[in-house]
Amino acid sequence: MIAPEKCTKCAGLLDEGFLLEVAHGNSLSPTRWVSGAPVKSFWMGLKLDGHAQYEVRTYRCRNCGFLESYAN
Ligand SMILES: [Zn+2]
Repeated sequence: MIAPEKCTKCAGLLDEGFLLEVAHGNSLSPTRWVSGAPVKSFWMGLKLDGHAQYEVRTYRCRNCGFLESYAN
């Protein structure tokens, strides 16, 4: 994966990071990108069968705060 170098809005410097997901029991994980529209499930909250999932890396501009995300 190629890391972006500059903000697309203001050309400021970007810092790598991720959006934090706090699940039941305070377990921590990075946010994931999931393919397709969300389908509700009674037991799990959402059905994820057959949906591709990728961890999301998000870069933050030091200058303007713009967030740019990649799911590789
Ligand atoms: Zn910026």
